[in-house]
Amino acid sequence: MAERESDDFINTSTSRSDHDSPEDNRKYSHIMQNQKKMIRDDSIYLDSEASPNIPEDSTSRPATAIKTGWLEKTPPQGSIIFQKRWITLDNEYLRYFQNDKDVYSKRMIPIYSIMRVMSVGTQKFEVVTHNRTFLFRAQSDYERNTWVSLLQKTIEEQYGVDRMTSDACGPIYIQGNLELRGIHSKLYMVVCEDKVILYKNTEEHKQGIGITSIQMNLGSVRETDKRAFDLTTPYRVFSFVAETEQMKQAWVEALQHAISSALSSDSVVAKIWSQDSNRLCADCNATHPDWASVNLCVVICSRCAGEHRRLGSSVSKVRSLKMDRNVWTEDLIKVFIMLGNERANLFWAANVPPSEALCPSSSDTDRRAFIFAKYRQGKYRWYHKLFGQQEALNKALCLNVQTDDILETLSLLFCGADVNCHTEHPEFPTPVSLATRYNQTLQVEILKQNQNTDSPGVDVEDFVDANILNDLRLSITHRGHLFKMASTTRPITERKSREGEFSQSLCTLKKGIFSYGNSRSSMPGRQLKVEEIVCLAINPPGTHGFEYTFEIYTEADRLYLFGENDPELVREWIMVIVKSILPRNARDLGRLDFQRIGRLNYKARLSQQSPGVGWFALVGSILHPRLPDHKEEEEDIDLCRLQELSVKQDQGKLLLIDRGRTLLIESQLKLNFLGWAQDIQQASGSWGNTLAQQQLTGTDIPIIVERCIDFITQFGLKSVGIYRKNGVSSKIANLLENFLVDARRIHLREEEHRVDDVAGTLKRFFRNVKEGVFTNQAAPAWLSTIGIKEESQRISHYQSLLSSLPSVNKATLEALIGHLYCIQHFSNVNQMNQHNLAIVFGPTLFQTDGTDSSAGKVIEELIQHYIPIFEVNEEQLQKQLHEVNLIVEIQESLMVETSPEPSSNIICTVYFEDGGQKEELHIKVDASMTAAALTSEVLEQHKIQPQEFDYWCSFEVNEVEETERPLHHRELMLPVLQSASTVVVKKNDAMETMLVYLASKLDISKYGMMKFRDERSLLSRGFQQRYVSITGTTFRIYKEVRSYRPEKECPIKSLTVFQGIKKKLRPPTSWGMTVVCDSEEQDRRQWYMCCDTQNEMREWLAIFMSIQHKGDMWPKE
Ligand SMILES: [Zn+2]
Repeated sequence: MAERESDDFINTSTSRSDHDSPEDNRKYSHIMQNQKKMIRDDSIYLDSEASPNIPEDSTSRPATAIKTGWLEKTPPQGSIIFQKRWITLDNEYLRYFQNDKDVYSKRMIPIYSIMRVMSVGTQKFEVVTHNRTFLFRAQSDYERNTWVSLLQKTIEEQYGVDRMTSDACGPIYIQGNLELRGIHSKLYMVVCEDKVILYKNTEEHKQGIGITSIQMNLGSVRETDKRAFDLTTPYRVFSFVAETEQMKQAWVEALQHAISSALSSDSVVAKIWSQDSNRLCADCNATHPDWASVNLCVVICSRCAGEHRRLGSSVSKVRSLKMDRNVWTEDLIKVFIMLGNERANLFWAANVPPSEALCPSSSDTDRRAFIFAKYRQGKYRWYHKLFGQQEALNKALCLNVQTDDILETLSLLFCGADVNCHTEHPEFPTPVSLATRYNQTLQVEILKQNQNTDSPGVDVEDFVDANILNDLRLSITHRGHLFKMASTTRPITERKSREGEFSQSLCTLKKGIFSYGNSRSSMPGRQLKVEEIVCLAINPPGTHGFEYTFEIYTEADRLYLFGENDPELVREWIMVIVKSILPRNARDLGRLDFQRIGRLNYKARLSQQSPGVGWFALVGSILHPRLPDHKEEEEDIDLCRLQELSVKQDQGKLLLIDRGRTLLIESQLKLNFLGWAQDIQQASGSWGNTLAQQQLTGTDIPIIVERCIDFITQFGLKSVGIYRKNGVSSKIANLLENFLVDARRIHLREEEHRVDDVAGTLKRFFRNVKEGVFTNQAAPAWLSTIGIKEESQRISHYQSLLSSLPSVNKATLEALIGHLYCIQHFSNVNQMNQHNLAIVFGPTLFQTDGTDSSAGKVIEELIQHYIPIFEVNEEQLQKQLHEVNLIVEIQESLMVETSPEPSSNIICTVYFEDGGQKEELHIKVDASMTAAALTSEVLEQHKIQPQEFDYWCSFEVNEVEETERPLHHRELMLPVLQSASTVVVKKNDAMETMLVYLASKLDISKYGMMKFRDERSLLSRGFQQRYVSITGTTFRIYKEVRSYRPEKECPIKSLTVFQGIKKKLRPPTSWGMTVVCDSEEQDRRQWYMCCDTQNEMREWLAIFMSIQHKGDMWPKE
């Protein structure tokens, strides 16, 4: 059987080399030769054509070898023929290869599966696993003995190390049977965190004996056919065929996942391990520790990490070096390199009695006790001489964070210094701000990581607590079917249909692990730790092909969509998942009827130095925060009543200002942030058509009403026929629409808005709002009040009607009538007396067609009896009117002045261009506005979410010169807008090319021939060949390559380079540049240069820009 498989395999394996001879005979014999070779071998031959161009790469061969060498081995089927094999031994596997050049082994025997190794006869030894025996023969007995003793030693060392295969390779993304192209019986393949392991079949997978492992950092995946895909490495192409298209998708996705995690994780691991002492676990000395406690500053193995986790995150924040890439900032990595396990243990493990020390094979119980004593109790730590003297410790901390001694900071912190103590510097009140002031970024990092952690101490209660908490979350178990979609890294915007996009999964939540698999196969499927889940969002029913769907967001910034038609079933899943992710202090959020729930970083006050982790639930327009460090700020936030909401999409920040309190929410996870930002924005906007559903002020008046009233009070009181005259209908429609989208963002300004348009907007709002201000139910009662004869009775009737209005309607009506009272106060100027105003507002407020005069009469009476009906304090009203008078006077005095104060804000016209469409926009620009700010303002107005490779950019366009140039993102807009040029916001198609080109350059310089024309030679010579050079910071033009002295020379910083050349100058190619030289020494000069290709031009432009802006081409995130 084994032989058959081998045959098939070799016949069809897709080798990367295409240099097989075309001659059939030779090819045939080549195959025959291989076949013969294969028949004698029990293993599968994975030929890899190592290309000579590929450098020996440490990552392609796994783990450091303990011993390598040639041995002979026998196939098991009783054959006596020995085969020469290249053998490698490391602490994970004993592998053998066809030869010493091969990258992919023929067999890999995990050390943990080896039961014994023994010498047999002359030069031979046996490696015995559970159900297989491998016989090897060495060159000599001495050589044989070396192998045997090394193997035995390795086995001994590895004994007791976690034997779970999943542990050896990190989380498994997918596994199952898969066809390697052409083979009849399938291989078993496991895709895990950063590699793929091939097994001959399920049986061997169970035994752990594999064929080979493929490191994914050099891999790439390509879909080739409906069910087929290629995994390409520099050494070989593996062509696979999946069972179904859907399965192919799953495999491809898993492989891509593995590639990206291999690529991203390697760098952190490599950097951290570059410090020698970080290659051994700080607690048990196990090799290759790939976890760390980021606040305790130790690198640890996975088994110790498990025990650290039990301490709770207030003691140890456990992060993976491979998976938690977002955590590993440059500074944090530096801290770990600077300190290293050895130095960190000078503090943590200064006094460890040998009897208590751990070794790699220590039991879980010993580990738990040791790690608890070491970090929770601080039993072995080096006691700082100031230990016990709180004030002295704090002082020492404040002094020390100004230096670079981070070990001292570690000792101070964990001997009791208060990370948030007061520094007595008014400007830098906390150690973090002090360290920042002294540029001690590593100090800042350590302090931040310990902002919310506990200092060690002997208080067992906490330990018990943390355990109970953990266990409670771990105790949740749930199992059942859900339909799921392949996870994605983009927001799901379009409807996902039931067929094709969802597949049924068997989901399990158990011991803090949420796993799901394809229920049609027996594969265990993928796993998510509940700690990785950062957010759960429930879609409105019917959003997708399944009636009920919800989304899960993870720390890897991926989105998982699940669905079912049974509401109960979905609700149950949501409940158990939410329960398992919520910490104790936020558990009550789980009982709310939320549409989105999860954790985000927050700052409760802007002065606070570093963000904490808060939990948030969004219910309708109410945001419920749970802020562990700011209990006093946990009051619910009504998003409709926010004073300010600003979203910095690019920075992942969202600022909420709510009646004096400020909350900054942020997330580095783009997808997660986007989901929250959209929901919060939507919830904060008007979410319906009634008054109460508008964005409201703190006094319950729709923002639109307040803003319009304020504006008219300021600028319209003396405007003749105010509210009677019609504004421009299109402008009114536009303004109203903008208000309805996000009233908070609309600020009315005299220079931008005309009073009649604003007045028209207010009227149209009241006319269109669903259920007018008097409400449908009560409106008839209001109208019929006119029939009451006695005035005082009418007034008291109005009063009682008013008191029964909903609060928003009541407040709005009062504000409006108060405003109209002011307007009629100036009726001698504006001609709008009570009667005139009533004629306008009656039908508007009662939403009638105007044929019934009673509507007008009611309004007239409300204005007339404003004081008694609304119980207005007359003194207050007089004060108010006095203020209004003052406003009017000021306005008038300003009118007299001929030149108004120069406003710091200028309204400028810019253009927006997308897909050939050009549109005129008016943007408010102040002196500090940069090109990047303008671009994002324009994009925001168009609700465009810039995609990664879009490079939206502001361009200066000079129509006279027929040139344009992309503005650097930090360039100030005002000077550009005040020049003769126009500004166009559009995509910069050249940017990607330019960035790629610059990335390929070792030094930023360029030389070459160009067609050149001097401004002064307009009539005579036209374009001439010139040799142009940019080196350092100087631009030079030579007559010839060999010329010694440049014809022209000027500093690059005094150049402005435009794309394009005026056609009248007859440029010889269409890839021209106009260069303006504006140096202090000389007058402004202008040159023209032409390139042969577009690419060449872009390269020159890239070099210019890169030098002018010191390599800062594009804003980083
Ligand atoms: Zn360990």
